[in-house]
Amino acid sequence: MYDYVIVGAGLFGAVFAREMTDAGYKCLVIDKRPHIGGNVYTEKVEGIDVHKYGAHIFHTSDKGIWDYVNRFATFNHYINKPKVNYKGKVYSFPINLMTLYQVYGVTTPQEAEKKLQEVRVTIANPANLEEWILSQVGLELYELFIKGYTMKQWQKHPKELPAFIIKRLPIRLNFEENYFEDIYQGIPKEGYTFLIGNLLKGIEVRLNTDYFSDKEHFNELAKTLVYTGKIDEFFGYRFGELEYRSLRFETKLLEGNYQGNAVFNYTDSEVPYTRVLEHKHFNFGRQKHTVVTWEYPDTYTRDKIPYYPVNDEKNNAMYRKYEQLARSCPGVLFGGRLAEYKYYDMHQIVGSALAKVKAIKAQKV
Ligand code: UDP
Repeated sequence: MYDYVIVGAGLFGAVFAREMTDAGYKCLVIDKRPHIGGNVYTEKVEGIDVHKYGAHIFHTSDKGIWDYVNRFATFNHYINKPKVNYKGKVYSFPINLMTLYQVYGVTTPQEAEKKLQEVRVTIANPANLEEWILSQVGLELYELFIKGYTMKQWQKHPKELPAFIIKRLPIRLNFEENYFEDIYQGIPKEGYTFLIGNLLKGIEVRLNTDYFSDKEHFNELAKTLVYTGKIDEFFGYRFGELEYRSLRFETKLLEGNYQGNAVFNYTDSEVPYTRVLEHKHFNFGRQKHTVVTWEYPDTYTRDKIPYYPVNDEKNNAMYRKYEQLARSCPGVLFGGRLAEYKYYDMHQIVGSALAKVKAIKAQKV
């Protein structure tokens, strides 16, 4: 008998299992995949950590969360500075003074601000992603950097998407190219699988083990179930299916230095992929080989991996029904991107797992 059976060996499950094990509880972690780590999993190829499920860059401004993950792995000093390729031309990104120089020839913050004032579209209350970005940077920058990429990524018109998706990206009137504004940033030097492996050290983990193949059995194994999978699946899709976006990756092992940067965004709608990753640059690699991945957005179906929740009003309303059900589900805790149907970053997952643990410990005292 266990205190906790944790469904999913991703970041949420691993942090939860570590904390509860350290607090003296007996945990079992199960995962249907043949490896730990969920979508943060990295695999070594020719000494290069390949981000198998897309680029993962850890960033946070919370010292507690940063110190926490640094207990389990040494992080490198990688700073994400993706470049954009639009119709064969290379641009600095996220939109900053260098980008504005490249597009408009402006060389100072004052000139840039003047230019933006000219091109911004006046929209009193921007109600969606398109309106918000037009109100910030105008039509030309929207079409160069945002429209094509967003339509490929979400398979929806930017008018149909909530603005919060794009508010993740800064717009700057300085030459700073760091994608993130957080104080701490990096990637585990030995990869995310090493980090998750350390979190799960000494904890029983069963891989290739699908919770849904024998639900009753796993429910009986512990007093409490911690579920990190899709919430709609947990409840048998009774209110309908929550929408996700999936991804498809094409990866090649090549030699040398393919693109000179870890991430290139392809923002033109004619190019079918959104990003090209060259994994060794995530860790300042000098290997003879190089691993390059083309990332294609993909329609989600149940046989594919869900990556992004589509947090529009329709889906959020459906999620709230599931959430209501989850609240009255004794003995089950829900956590992580899929169970909470939120576009969480890794640091938020660590934070939410630690918060959940804290709340449980407070109740038990
Ligand atoms: N985005 C864009 N052009 C880019 C990069 C991002 O239009 O070159 C938009 C797009 O809608 C995307 C959102 O900004 O879904 C958030 O991008 P981010 O890179 O944060 O997404 P993630 O890394 O989570 O896939």
